[in-house]
Amino acid sequence: MVITLLAGFAACNTSVTTNTKDMRDMQSKLKEKQSDSTAQTIVKTEQEWKEQLTAEQYYILREKGTERAFTGKYLLNKDEGVYKCAACGNPLFKSDQKFDSHCGWPSFDDQIEGAVKTERDTSHGMVRTEIMCARCGGHLGHVFDDGPTNTGLRYCVNSVSIDFEKDTLAK
Ligand SMILES: [Zn+2]
Repeated sequence: MVITLLAGFAACNTSVTTNTKDMRDMQSKLKEKQSDSTAQTIVKTEQEWKEQLTAEQYYILREKGTERAFTGKYLLNKDEGVYKCAACGNPLFKSDQKFDSHCGWPSFDDQIEGAVKTERDTSHGMVRTEIMCARCGGHLGHVFDDGPTNTGLRYCVNSVSIDFEKDTLAK
């Protein structure tokens, strides 16, 4: 009995020693995770999305639909603030990245770092680059390399896919 207890205690001690080292490893790993926390993904079933989103949002965000040109509520929005994913709230674009592209959809020349993921899209007889929310995979629109600003990029985004949050501190 005594021997078992001692052995147990020794084993415990050993693991404490190991843990200190493991702990340091874990902390550095956690730090890495934190730095790309926006990449943390949200996975929901299509049924769950259907319940959460409006029919229009579901059609565009989940079925990769496109709103009619020049109809989007944020097309002409010039207020300062942040555009977030309408499905999961992930901040995607800032108002200072928005520009008037005359293409009929809200356009941005850059994204908030790591917020948007891209995929090759060959639907409708075209080769385009689809843009999606990096967190929930919601369809946003497409990105083109004909942007007029120094990034050369034009993120063409459906208003339905985004929610605008006005920056109340903006001048
Ligand atoms: Zn999202």
